Amino acid sequence: MLQTLRRIIQEVNAAKDLQQALRIIVQRVQKEMAVDVCSIYLAHNTTRELVLMATEGLHQESVGKVRLSWNQGLVGLVAERAEPVNKDDAPSHPRYMYFPETGEERYHAFLGVPIIHHRTINGVLVVQSRTSVRFDEDAVTFLVTIAAQLAGAIAHAEASGDIDVLLRQGQLEDHRPLPGLPGAPGVAIGSIVVVNSSTDIDTVPDLVVEDSAAELKQFRAAVRAVRKDISDMLKRLRATMPASDSALFEAYLLMLEEGSLIDDTVKRIKAGSWAPSALRETVLEHVRIFDQMEDAYLRERAQDIRDLGRRVLEYLLGEERKPVEYPKNTVLVSEDVTASMLAEVPPKRLAGVVSMRGSRTSHTAILARALGVPAVMGVVDLPINKVHGREIIADGYSGRVYVNPSRDIRREYKRLQKEEAELTAELQALRNLPAETPDGLRVPLYANTGLVSDIRPSLNSGAEGVGLYRTEFPFMIRDRFPGEEDQLDVYRQVLESFAPRPVTMRTLDVGGDKALPYFPIKEDNPFLGWRGIRITLDHPEIFLTQIRAMLRANAATGNLNLLLPMVSNLSQVDESLVLIRRACAELREEGMNVSMPRVGVMIEVPSAVFQADRLAQRVDFLSIGTNDLTQYLLAVDRNNARVAELFDSLHPAVLQALVKVVDGANKYGKPVSVCGEMAGDPAAAVLLLGMGVDSLSMSSSSLPRVKWMIRSITRKKAQALLGEVLQMDEPTQVRARLNQAMEEAGLGGLIRAGK
Ligand code: PEP
Ligand code: MG
Repeated sequence: MLQTLRRIIQEVNAAKDLQQALRIIVQRVQKEMAVDVCSIYLAHNTTRELVLMATEGLHQESVGKVRLSWNQGLVGLVAERAEPVNKDDAPSHPRYMYFPETGEERYHAFLGVPIIHHRTINGVLVVQSRTSVRFDEDAVTFLVTIAAQLAGAIAHAEASGDIDVLLRQGQLEDHRPLPGLPGAPGVAIGSIVVVNSSTDIDTVPDLVVEDSAAELKQFRAAVRAVRKDISDMLKRLRATMPASDSALFEAYLLMLEEGSLIDDTVKRIKAGSWAPSALRETVLEHVRIFDQMEDAYLRERAQDIRDLGRRVLEYLLGEERKPVEYPKNTVLVSEDVTASMLAEVPPKRLAGVVSMRGSRTSHTAILARALGVPAVMGVVDLPINKVHGREIIADGYSGRVYVNPSRDIRREYKRLQKEEAELTAELQALRNLPAETPDGLRVPLYANTGLVSDIRPSLNSGAEGVGLYRTEFPFMIRDRFPGEEDQLDVYRQVLESFAPRPVTMRTLDVGGDKALPYFPIKEDNPFLGWRGIRITLDHPEIFLTQIRAMLRANAATGNLNLLLPMVSNLSQVDESLVLIRRACAELREEGMNVSMPRVGVMIEVPSAVFQADRLAQRVDFLSIGTNDLTQYLLAVDRNNARVAELFDSLHPAVLQALVKVVDGANKYGKPVSVCGEMAGDPAAAVLLLGMGVDSLSMSSSSLPRVKWMIRSITRKKAQALLGEVLQMDEPTQVRARLNQAMEEAGLGGLIRAGK
């Protein structure tokens, strides 16, 4: 049985689309179980119907036509009860429903099992036989196992749009919204411009050439041309967005200047390869490395490298780029909108972005947020070939998209959009005002930078400094550990551009979900393994090089704070302090004018929560990383979509842990900040305010929103709300209460469309 199962699943996974996958299932199951009929009904989420999608044994004409609601027929009964229904004489059952087009009157025995994925009924798998016998236990368990194994594959196929496309059969005049993921807040109403990249790097053929020198020349010319395009784009972008957010393109430029992307291609060309295929090999090699990373953010970087490769390839192949017409209120739509597609639209014409792929962490979404343009990502159901030029509404809060919206929907969204514009203008006016509650409590707001923007972060958002500079990015874009001088350059630029405002730099936090291409770590449980301070203490040469670079960079500006990640034992702090002091002393001996920076510890694991006071005693400040802390407290992998619903920083246990950390810090009079995603969620930040957290650090795009909240809610009110929610049992109750409080305070615009 296992072998049969494995074979069927392999075949299903190799199917080119959902329809073919379903056909394979019904054919194989019918044969294996030696039954007369095998059929699959899929649940249509919006209409709440079960639709016959494939059959072996019933008339093929009935596929797509037989539809039942959940309270109809035996198939409906399976879905309704979410358990198998096994009947020897189906036609005599009161729930039996007869569809003449199927020809099923001949069949008596009926066995149906639900196809369930993540607690949701996705469909029903049915077998039928002429003879009136009850299916035995073997048959039932076989079918249940098949359905359980296929549920994931079907859900995936459904998510990639096939079911809706099949069911809707291309009818766009359907006013139902298409679901996607919120990418950047706001509402876009405009005309669709579909852009697709015609050059496919994967399909470049292999050629061997005689004249390597000529190939090399062509390659260098193509790289130069792309560098120029990107520099021009960067100039345009700088006029409209903070430098920190356009840093992706600076990273592109860097990759085109030096490093393995260029060097490896050159090596391949010199070895006799045709320039385009040398480029293909190098790009795909890099893409594979990023694709394997567990961190969603880093996986998205594979896309950036592909994009860059495509640009060079276009020049190499001499392909002309057709100029695209961008009307007023362009909503850019593509299967995979890249950051550079977005950057090519004249900013005044860009109303919104809709991408079939990607998520909140895609660069496209990050750039859209920086540009203040609404974005919806992951709209897998969008029939992209049929929508060019159509009207579209993209709701960046709910992640919903309406193609050809009805008059009523358009009217409603126009109203919301007007309110949004008013709200944005009001937020803009807050830029230079302090983040201070109406009852006089100042809560400095800092920016998180690093991964996106290792160079020249900007203060445009009104940030009072950097609360978390993640140093991983400069390590990732190189092909070996960067040396002291290399790091010094990067850190100095960051410290100088913010001086005299403080910059909190975290020491290297790799391992877990963040891997360095040149330092692979293979572990069964990477999140519980060798990561953060555990690695750097085991490799003092790496730690000391980084600390020396940071201390030297700080010599002129004096605005550095040092932050230690993933601390789970007090001894790790003691050991780190010894090394930091040693680096400081050695640099002084070398004649450099360096001083000991303020040192802080990240609170990210449960043990640190319970020893927060002892940690506070040893260092100058604490900073809570709510992303990891939530993951470790709730035992929920922060990157695992299967358990994503369980990941919630508003879980009462997480809130209690946060209160404990604040108490621990207070005991020794040390300040405590929050630098995880929770700090950038205006509703959640109310609770942090209530707890007495001293400062918050977040992505710069969230900053004006959180500032608005702080300027609107008194500390007293925040404390009262905290007291209330600490009595609650479930995260959903906490969220509902916070949303209600935001509406009451006139801050509804921060949690949904409109004002
Ligand atoms: C955190 O864990 O909350 C945090 C800020 O660190 P990172 O997201 O980089 O792990
Ligand atoms: Mg962390």
